[in-house]
Amino acid sequence: MSDRMFAQTCPNCGGICPQQAETCKYCKFSFAGPGRFSLNAIVPRRRSLKFALIALAILMIVVLLVINILRS
Ligand SMILES: [Zn+2]
Repeated sequence: MSDRMFAQTCPNCGGICPQQAETCKYCKFSFAGPGRFSLNAIVPRRRSLKFALIALAILMIVVLLVINILRS
């Protein structure tokens, strides 16, 4: 009964894995259930989006500087 609270069943192979495991220890299946796993999946996307916006801003500044240098 208490084991059920700290274990999850792999939907791929049916193996019982620890609740905190992100992947199945038998078949390496990734547990993509609702809750903390979906939250972890969102955070890297936000980071990459922020990085893309910063890179785009730097690129815009560089392009503007190059245009100013070429015009002068
Ligand atoms: Zn499995």
